Amino acid sequence: MNKEICKYIDEHESVFVELESLLSSIPAISPLSGGEGEYKKAHALEEWLRKQGYTDFQYINAPDEKAYKGVRPSLILTIPGKKQDRSFWIMSHVDVVPPGDLKLWDTDPYTVVVKDGKLYGRGVEDNQHGITASVMAALALKNAGIQPEYTVKLLFVADEEIGSVYGLQYILKEHPDLFGKDDYALVPDSGCSTGDEIEIAEKNMLWLKVHTKGVQCHASRPDLGKNAFVAASALVLKLAELQDYFKSFQDNLFNPPYSTFAPTKKEANIPNVNTIPGDDVFYLDCRILPTADMDKIMEEIHSRCQKVEKEYGVQIELETVVDGVSKKSNPESPIIKRLITVLKDVSGRDAKLVGIGGGTVAAYLRNIGMNVAVWSTIDETCHMPNEYTWIKNLQNDAKVMAHLMI
Ligand SMILES: [Zn+2]
Repeated sequence: MNKEICKYIDEHESVFVELESLLSSIPAISPLSGGEGEYKKAHALEEWLRKQGYTDFQYINAPDEKAYKGVRPSLILTIPGKKQDRSFWIMSHVDVVPPGDLKLWDTDPYTVVVKDGKLYGRGVEDNQHGITASVMAALALKNAGIQPEYTVKLLFVADEEIGSVYGLQYILKEHPDLFGKDDYALVPDSGCSTGDEIEIAEKNMLWLKVHTKGVQCHASRPDLGKNAFVAASALVLKLAELQDYFKSFQDNLFNPPYSTFAPTKKEANIPNVNTIPGDDVFYLDCRILPTADMDKIMEEIHSRCQKVEKEYGVQIELETVVDGVSKKSNPESPIIKRLITVLKDVSGRDAKLVGIGGGTVAAYLRNIGMNVAVWSTIDETCHMPNEYTWIKNLQNDAKVMAHLMI
């Protein structure tokens, strides 16, 4: 453990608070959620970093006419390493979600309040925890006069909260050469309060829209129609059975360790009580283990639909709404092994590798072949009123990131 780095981070608590306060004071909300985008916040961050002596910045501006200045900027700060044949990326996102009902907040969401060792405010955890920890890690190295081993790239992306279309997806599409084949990344945008879980894999996400077509008629003569709602209800139960059907295929990296199949959203059918609905739409949210046999799963889904079609005389159409495949990071790759070592060294933590059911932005990087660790020490208050993060966790995570850089 490098004492000078740790000392700098321990002694500069006020700078963590300063940067978090600046970032929270400029809401970067997607135009789709009624905001103006990331322009002002990204540029304020750049200005702050320039004051610390950094000069190597690159903007990637995704056009979005609904946003302030017509762009959704992602910002990259480059810190050259001793070796430049690969880069170590730390990716965090600039955008935040709206505060929601202000009555649920004890303080103003855009004014950071320090209380009992925590910082409160919209964005302080999601994802300014990642921004601030990575920036402070870089500053600690700079202060100690240490050049990173490999080139460090702090990537502050736009539009993570609403699908990354104007953020990482745009970057990968327009600048595919930005990422080298041996690059690796840390994404501090998910984690747990003990900070000992390193996420290396995600389940594949499959969202299906299930459209059942029957025959509409007067509710007093159900014999003349085909009730799409009843048929769809039968199908809901059959599809929910899939979870048990595939339960024996397990991967203990994940919790739960099996694929899940959850009927979720239900669209309205008819507005009145006295009509037999001829149309019904519901959705199925599947989170599938990366090792599962996808063909077998689709076959089981289709055969259940066919049974219901036959039994109820309806037609069923399936539409894939989201089909997110995520590669797994290699547990033996340098970023994962090094993070395990550093966590033990700096925090005394025994890390365990985990997979999650939810999708993160890391999937896009994993899918281009990069090894990515998703990790941070947070209480998971993101998107909640009174969002907070612990100053001690910010400092710990900055120390870990600094040691990953060297
Ligand atoms: Zn986030």
